[in-house]
Amino acid sequence: MDNPKETESKGLTRREAIKVSGLALGSLAMGSGALTGPDEARADTEQCPNCCPEPTAPCTWYNPDKENYDKVPANYASSQTYSYFQTLDYYYPIAGTSTTIPKLGSDEMRITFMGSMIPPVRRAQQEMSIFVEVGWNDTTNMPMDQFVFDCGSGVCANYGAMNVGYGRMDKIFLAHLHGDHMSDLVHVYCFGPSADRKTPLYVFGPSPSGVKNPLAQPGGGSPMYYDDGTNAFCQNLRAACRWHSESFSFQTTMYPDYPSRSQKQKDWGLPCKPNPVSDDPWGDAYAMVPIQLDWTKYGKKYGDNVAYCNTTTGARVTHFPVIHTRKGSIGYKLEWWPNHLDTGNQDKPHLSMIYTSDTKPEIRSRDQAINGGKGVDVFIHEMIVPPNIWAMKFADPANPTYGPEKPPDSTSDIVQQTTMVQNSSHSPQGGFGYLLSQINPRPRLTVATHFPVADDTVSCALNSVQQHVPVVQGNVVPPQGTSRITWSFDLMVITVSADQIVEQRGYVTDFGFTPNAILPSTKAYPPKYHDTSGAGDPFAQIDLSTAIPACDCSTTPDKCNYRGDGY
Ligand SMILES: [Zn+2]
Ligand SMILES: [Zn+2]
Repeated sequence: MDNPKETESKGLTRREAIKVSGLALGSLAMGSGALTGPDEARADTEQCPNCCPEPTAPCTWYNPDKENYDKVPANYASSQTYSYFQTLDYYYPIAGTSTTIPKLGSDEMRITFMGSMIPPVRRAQQEMSIFVEVGWNDTTNMPMDQFVFDCGSGVCANYGAMNVGYGRMDKIFLAHLHGDHMSDLVHVYCFGPSADRKTPLYVFGPSPSGVKNPLAQPGGGSPMYYDDGTNAFCQNLRAACRWHSESFSFQTTMYPDYPSRSQKQKDWGLPCKPNPVSDDPWGDAYAMVPIQLDWTKYGKKYGDNVAYCNTTTGARVTHFPVIHTRKGSIGYKLEWWPNHLDTGNQDKPHLSMIYTSDTKPEIRSRDQAINGGKGVDVFIHEMIVPPNIWAMKFADPANPTYGPEKPPDSTSDIVQQTTMVQNSSHSPQGGFGYLLSQINPRPRLTVATHFPVADDTVSCALNSVQQHVPVVQGNVVPPQGTSRITWSFDLMVITVSADQIVEQRGYVTDFGFTPNAILPSTKAYPPKYHDTSGAGDPFAQIDLSTAIPACDCSTTPDKCNYRGDGY
């Protein structure tokens, strides 16, 4: 059915062929028994009244006005700005002094996009990462709890600009192990101990995919199954960072009184005992602790998908499988009960956020968002632009391959490549709209992410979604029968309470330094490389025989190569 020539020869139009192909796939799934149970069956029996709605307005990336096409690429201005974001009020990440975190209400959740982009890199958006804070602790003057979801390249600069230090980035939930979701983990791991993360780094993520290696040979060097899960990932990452961690271990990396492993497992409701992947002492900042999650679980048996459940802070994180590139991708749901005594009780007031990360439209995300008919507050789901927009965007602006007279079609290499990527891994704009139309009650706010935003791409995407479900974008109370949607952008801040959800944009300086480190007041253990007094020894790992020395200008100014005070 995939061969266009074959379908043409049977006298089918392309659209008919797509419909037939969809039917064939549906019946295959039903017949194979691959999908069973009431929720799965629903996906197959649902009738779409208008499966292939035509866009009601052209996407603005395509300028059909030949007269104006001397400006390349078409609609250049609308591809270089995201006007919606500019309309948002500012959020000031530094409250009062350089170390004070902006206060959060005792009943509020704050979601900040530190990265929001799909892998083609751009200056305006770093790769995926979302920081979530819940509630407020008046004793510590900090949020009750906080979480990092994904940690793609470039996001550390945004965390720093938004006044989030490494000490608050100690729980990282990876949705899958693609580079755009984990590559800044190296920076977080390596430099956290030099700043204010003086405790282990916890990395939550999926178990091995279980996908068979097509190159495996009996007795050969290529295994039947790669160990591609989070435990192995952390072991290898920690080993790769050995030179770094040793070199910096003349600095303090550990304090007394860190809870035991059993206590930590209990406090955080972890599904497994926390074990560092290497020989780092328990409690040390260079201890990397994977919490490997069985990616197949989704709560079918109550509690089988809990990654974290903290009855002191009232926060719980659960996970569920999604469909993205290779088995083993997961999405997360964070629920938070302002009254921590209610933790886990769906009938008590709480706030909820879903981050599906990257996925095709699929039923687990849908059902998590329906949430047994209670809905969720914020639903964050990825979206991808259509393949021929990729083709347009990848074209050389000075010498466009495609344009009004030669639009990219399904035969072009790049359209074919991006179609494969889309079909194995991502949610097309219309697919996103359809999925949302199936979620009742609707999320209070839906956020499309992992998406290259600009006026042109967002207006096109909004149009696609509106073909399936009435949505509006903006800090508004949506009209009756309409729900609210937004497209994420770096430094977008979404503050959620029972009464309202407000979008803001972070007001940052491009030239700031990392937030000040707030260290424990207790005395630290001696660093790994220390002198006889227990003080850190910065010379323990270097050979000084060829060094050009500085001097103390106050005592020997006449024998001074250069000042020792840095000036
Ligand atoms: Zn991915
Ligand atoms: Zn991705």
